[in-house]
Amino acid sequence: MGKMGEAGRRYVIVVDGPSGVGKSTVAKILAEATGYCCLDTGALYRTVAWRALSRDISLYDESGLVGLCNGITMIREEVSGKIRIQADGEEIGAQIRSEDMGMAASLVSRFPGVRRALLHLQRKAGESGGIIAEGRDMGTVVFPDADIKIFLDAEPAERARRRLLELVDRGEKVDYEDVLNDIILRDEQDRNRTAAPLKPAPDAVVLDTTHLTIGEVVDALVNIVRSKVDQMRDSSL
Ligand code: C5P
Repeated sequence: MGKMGEAGRRYVIVVDGPSGVGKSTVAKILAEATGYCCLDTGALYRTVAWRALSRDISLYDESGLVGLCNGITMIREEVSGKIRIQADGEEIGAQIRSEDMGMAASLVSRFPGVRRALLHLQRKAGESGGIIAEGRDMGTVVFPDADIKIFLDAEPAERARRRLLELVDRGEKVDYEDVLNDIILRDEQDRNRTAAPLKPAPDAVVLDTTHLTIGEVVDALVNIVRSKVDQMRDSSL
């Protein structure tokens, strides 16, 4: 994988899918394998929700939320492959990672104004290529011309199991049933909203990961990326 983009071309690779499917985990592994940067776009919506809650702005106040978006910046670090997020100069990290913040992010992300305000930030982070961008609308809205589009899916029960392991690992006290209910509710909100609903782009490769381990998902993605890169090379010869 280290040879990707050897002719000076650094690709835009997008990974979309529902919550708990393992997008961030595999996107990080892929980014390491390729030397690309990883763009976690859910973190942007989580940041808006977190700022709103800490400043007493309602999660239903679209113009207040848009105002918060304007204070968000992203810093792309090529060496670490990380894209850091700051809100009004404050570094954003683990504070946005709880299940509650995921649900709050799903509420604020329904507003077209919020999505519009965050669009240019995401596109700017990807403008020079060399990026693995993960989210819900990477292939459909943010990077419609991405070189490689992947959509990961899995049964809700399996996604709840994966999310539970991740949360327990982080020291959160959570119950499987609650996590499953959150996943089902968040899916419903993310798939049925009018603005940029969660769905595979027509040209995405869809991979059902329900019965696959992380290692198997990564292997499958590496194969997809390799064959797409070969196709693109052949067609440019
Ligand atoms: O991926 P993550 O769980 O961090 O995303 C939190 C929420 O942010 C999602 O449930 C979704 O509503 C929203 N989101 C979005 N578009 C993206 C990424 C995340 O609407 N590209």
